[in-house]
Order: sequence, then structure tokens, then C-alpha cells
Amino acid sequence: MNRDYPLEKVRNFGIVAHIDAGKTTTSERVLFYTGMSHRMGEVHEGEATMDWMDQERERGITIAAAATTCFWTPTYDPENKDLKHRFNLIDTPGHIDFTIEVKRSLRVLDGAVIVFDGVSGVEPQSETNWRYADEEKVPRLCFINKLDRTGASFERSYKSILDRLTTNAVRMQIPIGEEDKHEGVVDLLTRTAYYFEGNLGSTIRTGEVPEHLKEDVEKYRHELIEKIIEQDEEAMNMYLEGKEPELTVLKKILRKAVIGNLITPVFTGTALKNKGVQLVLDAVVDYLPSPLDIPPTKGINPATGEEEIRNASDDEPFSALAFKVQSDPFVGQLTFFRVYSGTIEAGSYIYNSSTETKERLGRIVRLHANEREEVKKVFAGEIAAAVGLKDTKTSDALCDEKNPIILEKIKVPEPVISLRIEPKTKADQEKLGMALKRLSDEDPTFKVTTDQETLETIIAGMGELHLEVLVERMRREFSVDANVGKPQVAYRETILGTADVENKYIKQTGGRGQYGHVKIRVKPMDTSIADEDLPKNVKREDGLEFINSIKGGVIPQEYIPAVQKGLKEAMDRGVLAGYKLVNISVDLYDGTYHEVDSSEIAFKISASQALQEAVQKARPVLLEPIMKVEVVVPEQFMGDVTGNLSSKRGQIQGMEDRGQLKAVRALVPLSEMFGYTTQLRSMTEGRGNSTMEFDHYEVVPENVAKGIIEARGGTHR
Ligand code: GDP
Repeated sequence: MNRDYPLEKVRNFGIVAHIDAGKTTTSERVLFYTGMSHRMGEVHEGEATMDWMDQERERGITIAAAATTCFWTPTYDPENKDLKHRFNLIDTPGHIDFTIEVKRSLRVLDGAVIVFDGVSGVEPQSETNWRYADEEKVPRLCFINKLDRTGASFERSYKSILDRLTTNAVRMQIPIGEEDKHEGVVDLLTRTAYYFEGNLGSTIRTGEVPEHLKEDVEKYRHELIEKIIEQDEEAMNMYLEGKEPELTVLKKILRKAVIGNLITPVFTGTALKNKGVQLVLDAVVDYLPSPLDIPPTKGINPATGEEEIRNASDDEPFSALAFKVQSDPFVGQLTFFRVYSGTIEAGSYIYNSSTETKERLGRIVRLHANEREEVKKVFAGEIAAAVGLKDTKTSDALCDEKNPIILEKIKVPEPVISLRIEPKTKADQEKLGMALKRLSDEDPTFKVTTDQETLETIIAGMGELHLEVLVERMRREFSVDANVGKPQVAYRETILGTADVENKYIKQTGGRGQYGHVKIRVKPMDTSIADEDLPKNVKREDGLEFINSIKGGVIPQEYIPAVQKGLKEAMDRGVLAGYKLVNISVDLYDGTYHEVDSSEIAFKISASQALQEAVQKARPVLLEPIMKVEVVVPEQFMGDVTGNLSSKRGQIQGMEDRGQLKAVRALVPLSEMFGYTTQLRSMTEGRGNSTMEFDHYEVVPENVAKGIIEARGGTHR
């Protein structure tokens, strides 16, 4: 069976946005314009945060589906069958605390449309998502949405992109009117005015540039053309001779620059009032990459430990990533996967290199807006969903058993907040166990542990809201009734200094003894070195960097894993207040062993003791999560709000206008931010809004640390 669609006409892309910028509305318009959706639900203003899941459910499966397939022929040549493209629209979560989901979706998509609120411009989550997209080198288009709103400004929003995200951004359009006068957009490259009429703006009318915009159009068009031709010497020379390259040439150069992340085109309009979305879809065709345009996928051959690559070709061995496991009202469970190389047929066996198990791939489906298409075979570069895979989790790598490959893992951030959860009855206990397993399988930033002393269950996540949502899901989806404790900050411990320690764990009294002897050096881990750039003898896992410098077998190879295990165990409990240790580099450089008495357990204990002692000596400190906070309030409350943030050990990062309102950005320790929403409400007569997300860990100031350590019964040194 042959490929049903040429790969160069496939676009795997996602729509990414700060919550409320209009991702859902834009996605709905995409499904409508691509001709698949018959029902267009509207989102209503003023919803409570808790409602979002129910809303997604009520809106049907499409919007919430991990990937939806649709087709698009650009509006500039709608009859041209050769231009028809297949879109696999990949869902990215709209919620701040689910950043890992954004990261995961960025791994499987080839390009992204970043949606901004035309009143707010760049918001905190836009920055985070942008950073992630930078890390994954995802080519992007920007869509400044909500231009119809009071207070909206294309220029201000565009400038916020230039100032805060990238100087590579360039206007592709300018709006015809703003706020309630917003009528359409002018495409700068072609100097064409676009208006969107008829049912939900689906009839496109083009026209001359309105007189009052002609000057602006020429000015910004000039800017755009210069930006494009800078990327191409031939075009540049031609331009310098006074000749402008043809439209097709300009578009070709621009496409290459967008794919290379050298230019980010900016579009505008309003999804809700049905203006501009179709032109963004044209741009997806014109400028975002097909699977053939992106670099081959890298992975490790588990047999050899060597790096291998997989090209987006049907002739290569099969490799894929399961990027989302989702319950489905009709078929039970769907496992969405992206094929990087090779092909896979329904009914064949796949090898899960993450769990080292084999599973039969039963049925395969592709989800369209309102139908499921049964698929017999999936080709390289495509996205589909498997029905009934039982042992495959989110983020597992799937491959051909004869050519196994482990794909690069997504780095999961450590949870910053935890709380105790206690089932109300015996029956709840069982249901809780099941719910926790299911939810943590779905979401790797959601961690479940047991307190070793009290045996209570502790759940941890990326923010207060993240845990609130998960507890709510346990109640609704799994009918678990439970008491939940107060949220606690997940502090960490690390070292600022270095130490050199020798430890001997020796017991030689009668019978077989114990003998483990290690010498280690510890220092703070240099996180500026990426994992993939580390030398071969260095391994990083869970905040521990292990350097194996043992020469000449002074500690036999068979005991090295035991040493590593001992170090890992010691990392679980810091020396100040028992919090997890992070970012420590341990160099195992010497030791001895005993022919008879040495054992794995002896080396494990010796290494563990050595690390504890070394940490004591290397200036241990407490770390706390720092949150990026943004508060938007009417001007008269600004003074109170900033004063209050400062009193919370916050550092004000900037202030700016947001239409009629003011926004302040600050970095504030999480421990100071509990219950902030309520506090803000009473401080601003209910007119303030805030968002918050994890930014980084920072050393806790001495005086504050003292209190935390004492409260945990630790000793402050
Ligand atoms: P998401 O959180 O990014 O998915 O945002 P939604 O699509 O759910 O939109 C959030 C709110 O903004 C909803 O009330 C939408 O109706 C509204 N909205 C979305 N797009 C526009 C727009 O272009 N103009 C206006 N005025 N409101 C919009």
C-alpha cells in the first residue's frame, strides 16, 4: 500500500497561547474553515478556572483531541488541487500549570502558531512557551488575536513581541481599523486588502488598500521586503540594483528563513469575529515546515549505546513517539503517536523501547473534526492514534523490534508543591490508588509518593491550581472522596562549595565481612553544559551528575552501579532539613576493594555515607521555587499591589500598560504566594487578576532558611 498523501504537503502544527488568548476559538475556526466542523460552539466570558475541563468535554471531542486531521487549500488559489495540504492540528494545553504538556506537544509538531491577545500582547505564558519553542527549535508564526476588543492595539502587541520574544518578528499584515472599527487586514507582500464576510467570515473579499493606509503599507512593506532579501544574497544583489524579486521568490526565501527560525512572521485579526484566521492557514502552508523540512530525529540504539538518526522516510526502520494517551468516549483508550520514520500497519507488532515490551497494534484511526477514519497503514511524518494499546504510556518510544531506538526524553521539571491526601473510607482508598496511577501515567509532572514516617500519600505538582485540578478530577472522574492537606512548598537542598571525602565501610568480624571504600569529590553541577555535550564517563539523572574516573579497576566495574545507587539514595534526603538534594556533581576518583568481603551493598553504603559527609562539608543551602507572577489591575491599585509584592520578597521585573489597565511582573517565592488570589481580590475590590507559574529555584536567604529548617527539626549550620 502506498502513501496516501505526499509528505511535503503535510503540516504537523499546533496552536499555542497564554490562557484566554483565544487558542480554543482559533482552533474551532480552523476546523470550521477547513470544512469539517458543522457545529461551532462559543466560549463565554467570565468562566471559572475549574470549568475548563467540563467545557472541553461539552464542546465534544474535537477540541480536546490530541490531534485532529483536516485539509486546506490556500485562499489565494482555492481551485488548485495541487495546493491542497493535510493539516494535523496538534492540541497544546491552555493551562499554565501544564507546561510539560506544551513541551511534549512541541516535540511532536513541526511548527506552531502562537496566539496573542491583542490587548495584552505578550503575557507570561507566551514567554514560557516561546522559550520552550526556542529549545525545541520550532518554527513559528504569530497571530495577534482579539483585535476587535476595546483597548486592542496591533502596534503595541507587535512591539511587545519584538521587545520580549524576538527581534526576528516582522509584520506580514497591518489591520484595517482596530477595536470596534476592525474590518479586515492588508497583506503587505501583495498589497491586498482582505475582508471576511458571510457565514462566520467564510467568504473572503479582496480589494484595494484603503487610501488612509497606503503610506503605512508602503513603509512596512519596505521593512518586510528588506528583512526577507537580507536572507538571500542573490535577491539582495538584485534588490540593490533596484529590482524587487518576484512574489514566488520572496515567499520561497521567507519560507526558508521561517523554517530556520531566522524570521517570525506576524499576522493579525480576530478569531471570535471571524477575521484573519484563513490567512494564517495560508501561511501555515506557505511558511511552516513539512516533516521533510526538519532535521532527522535522534535517538540511542539500546544495544550499542550509540547515537542513531532516523530520517523522515518510509524506507527507514519504523520509529514513533506516543505523545498522548487519552480516554475516548467511543473506543476506550486512544494512544496518539507520531511516526518519525518508516511505516506501521494495523495488526502488526510494535516494540516499546521505553518499557522493553512488545504489543500488538490493533486498530489505527485518524481523528477528523467529527468522524474517525480507520487507517490501515501510517507513514513516516504522519500522526495517528492506536486503539487499545495497554502498556504504552505518554512519552514512550515505539519502534521496529529489529531496529530498536530510544528517542530523546523530554525533560520533566520537578514538582514545586505538594500536599497530603487521605481517602475518607476504605473504598475510597482503592479508588484513590487507581486514580493516582492513571493521572500520573497521563501527566509526568504529577508525582505520587508515600511519606516514609507517617505512611501518608503525598501528591506533588507544578502549582496550587495544578493540584486543585487533579484533586477535582479524582473526585469527578474516579469518585474518590478524600481529605486534602495544605499545600507545601517543595524545597530542595544543594551545595555551593566543594569537598573531597574518603569513606570506608568495613566490617570484618567473623564469617564473610563487608568491604567498600570510595573517594569522591563533590562540586555544584554546571547546568550550563547540556546533557548531550557531556563526556562519556559522565551521567546525569535526577539532579545528580556522576563522573566515573576510576582507573585500572581499583573499584571493579561490577560495583560501580552500586556506588551510583548509594549516591542516588543519599540524594533523596538533604542534610539541612531532609529535602531532596539537586545539582550536585560527584566524581568517583579512587577507592579499593577486597577479594572476598566486597559486595554491592558495602559499596552502596560507603558511597551513600561519603556523599552525606561531602554535602555537609560543601556549604549546603536550601533552595526554594521562585514563581513568575503577573498582576493586572486598574491603575489606582498599582501602589498597593507592588508594595504587597515587595513585602513578599518579590522582585518587580517591569510594569506596563494593558489597555485601560496596568500590568506588573515580578518574581516571588512560592512560599509567599499561597492564597494570593483571595488577597488580591480584597486588595482591589475584586478587579485584579493574577497569573503565576514556576520559573526557577533560588537559594533561600539565611534568615528565612533558619525558620524553615527549624520547623523541620533540622539543624541550621
Ligand atoms: P483559550 O483559553 O486560549 O483557549 O481562549 P478561548 O478561545 O477559550 O477564548 C477566551 C475568551 O476570549 C473567550 O471568552 C472567547 O470568546 C474570547 N475570544 C477569543 N477570541 C476572541 C477575539 O478575537 N475577540 C474577542 N473579543 N474575544 C475573543
